[in-house]
Amino acid sequence: MISVDEALQLVLAHADVLPAVEAPLADALGLVLARDVASDLDSPPWDKAMVDGYAVQAADLASGHARLTILEEIVAGAVPTQSVRPGGATRIMTGAPTPDGCDAVVMVEQTSHHPGDGLGQVEINEVARAGQNILRRATALAQGDVALLAGKKLRAIEIGLLAEVGCVQAPVIPRPRVAVLSTGNELIPPSEIPGPGQIRNSNGPMLAAAVRELGASAIELGPARDELADLRQRVAEGLDANILVLSGGVSAGVLDLVPQVLAELGVEQVFHKIKLKPGKPLWFGVRRGRRPCLVFGLPGNPVSSLVCFQLFVRPAMASLAGQQGHGLTRVRARLASGFQHRGDRPTYHPAVFDSAGEAPTIEPLRWQGSADLFGLSLANALAHFPAGDRHYAAGESIEAVLL
Ligand code: AMP
Ligand code: MG
Repeated sequence: MISVDEALQLVLAHADVLPAVEAPLADALGLVLARDVASDLDSPPWDKAMVDGYAVQAADLASGHARLTILEEIVAGAVPTQSVRPGGATRIMTGAPTPDGCDAVVMVEQTSHHPGDGLGQVEINEVARAGQNILRRATALAQGDVALLAGKKLRAIEIGLLAEVGCVQAPVIPRPRVAVLSTGNELIPPSEIPGPGQIRNSNGPMLAAAVRELGASAIELGPARDELADLRQRVAEGLDANILVLSGGVSAGVLDLVPQVLAELGVEQVFHKIKLKPGKPLWFGVRRGRRPCLVFGLPGNPVSSLVCFQLFVRPAMASLAGQQGHGLTRVRARLASGFQHRGDRPTYHPAVFDSAGEAPTIEPLRWQGSADLFGLSLANALAHFPAGDRHYAAGESIEAVLL
């Protein structure tokens, strides 16, 4: 059996980034930019006032006091029609273009208005410095400059910047489409009361939600029966996606038909079974071709399924989506209490990671094994214990993966 690291390397070796597409800004959040985007204009587009106040000639205020004639008022969306001349001032709003002739803007809070002829006069008691409160055209970005580099994951800030520079169809790596198919004759919909031997399908909703949590689109194919014909039809549908995640049917049971069906449909096995607890039966393969599909056969037990999803499907999704890193956050923390590890496989044990104190701590939880989804629900991390029986003392530093 191969190790977790070897398995991850094999998965990533097959997880090529998806071809770029153009997405409207409303759909681009969380996606990775596929090409550099240049600005189609200067930012700011003109010399602009950074405060509400009066555009003046700084020389008029050399003495720290002046009473100036108000020439005009420039509100948002308007443009100046007059130059500022000695003895004159233009009332201006934040963001508006400054008039010719002015070299400073004085904050309105430093002024008092005196009504009179026309717009009246403004009294200013402040020494103005040339250039104050004016942001010069193109100081942030000049037309043609690269505003955003390829590879950037788009947050709300970047969506705003793309809008500012007029890029309304963003070149992006699309969201991976991930099909989820749970298998098992014992599965019934969660809305039903289980009869003898029956169990509610928790993996289907959980795995689809895990896919969506990572910003990808999930296609739920519903539970399939452990019958060749049904499995074949559902799996064939699932192979249209970029990733097909199956749960159940990959262990050594009589009805574990998944590997056989996958082989029939042209999916090449890359590995089956790894040194991992929970999650040993994991199956991974690829359907090659023009539209390749990565296929994960996750073990049926819900915790095994979720752990394998986190350790392998999540990094594959990140890789397809063009993201840097593998989408997993690995941390080191000190054990909050002693822990006895037993077993010849490395274990990922549900745990609570707490970074509130001086040094981060991790507390492995009481957990009844791979079917104990309740135990996992109390966790926010998986504590990693290497293979081998060993007692870990409180305070020892171990590795964990955040959920
Ligand atoms: P399998 O991997 O198919 O042998 O299933 C292992 C265990 O996981 C069995 O106890 C199944 O009943 C359980 N199981 C399989 N699929 C699901 C599912 N979709 N939801 C909840 N439990 C499941
Ligand atoms: Mg089964």
